[in-house]
Amino acid sequence: MKLIFAKEIGFCFGVRRALKMIENNLSKMKKPIKMYGPLVHNEEVTERLRKKGIKIVNDLEKIKEGTLIISAHGLPQKIKNKLIRRRGLDLLDTTCPIVARVQKTAELLERESRQVLIFGDINHQEVLGIKGATKEKAIVFCSKEELLKFKPKKNKRYGLVVQTTQNFEKFKEIGKIAKKKIPQIEIFNTVCSASFKRQAEIRKLAKKVDAVLIIGSTTSANTKRLYQISSKINPRTFFVKTAKDLKREWFENIKNVGIGAGASTPDWIINKVVKKLKTYDSKKKNKEN
Ligand code: SF4
Repeated sequence: MKLIFAKEIGFCFGVRRALKMIENNLSKMKKPIKMYGPLVHNEEVTERLRKKGIKIVNDLEKIKEGTLIISAHGLPQKIKNKLIRRRGLDLLDTTCPIVARVQKTAELLERESRQVLIFGDINHQEVLGIKGATKEKAIVFCSKEELLKFKPKKNKRYGLVVQTTQNFEKFKEIGKIAKKKIPQIEIFNTVCSASFKRQAEIRKLAKKVDAVLIIGSTTSANTKRLYQISSKINPRTFFVKTAKDLKREWFENIKNVGIGAGASTPDWIINKVVKKLKTYDSKKKNKEN
């Protein structure tokens, strides 16, 4: 069984950067160390950070002392300012620069008196941060259907941005609809290149292999997106969180497997999955001998 890896696989630049910032500062950080929400949507990464003494919290009001880590997904500036003013609390801001740029774009559009539209998941921390940059005025929608129902105001100017990890093909479709429906709209493609490249790679790979294996957490939106893209092209697409989820029968009579992983999937998980996958092949060979 031949394993073909997507050229862009696993941790993206933003996640690597955030982890490095934490590692480099860990010994100097004032304790207790807390992080608002997970650094990335991956349980094993969260567990590793927990073992280093970093606790994940969901209520910012309760954090009065020590160090608070802001994850790569970012936070609304207003909340950040409030935290900066909190005496006794240090901040380590690992917001991905690409996310920060989308926040800036949304803020500028709002300052130009445009109604900002965000294509993304309203419950995602990144989207909440972008919305916060517009003083909570942005309208968030997550599907073509929602946009079709939307009634733009006459003479109002609009601006559209997109969550960095959204499906680029869907965004292209959304952009076309928005242009037709809203005459005065500026559209910004803010899908990040790490997401774009991973999606493009999986599209190519899914067409040329017998089966595809996507590795990552079910809580990771960008990993789930890779799975959705691949399974539409190749019905033999499987999703595993870790090596434990692998099933031998998935790979019976399979000559080649494409392997992809989301931007939040660490190398150590990918390596373990690949190691186990390789044993399937050698067991088969042993049986044949
Ligand atoms: S997916 Fe893109 S925007 Fe999100 S953390 Fe990674 S590099 Fe940054």
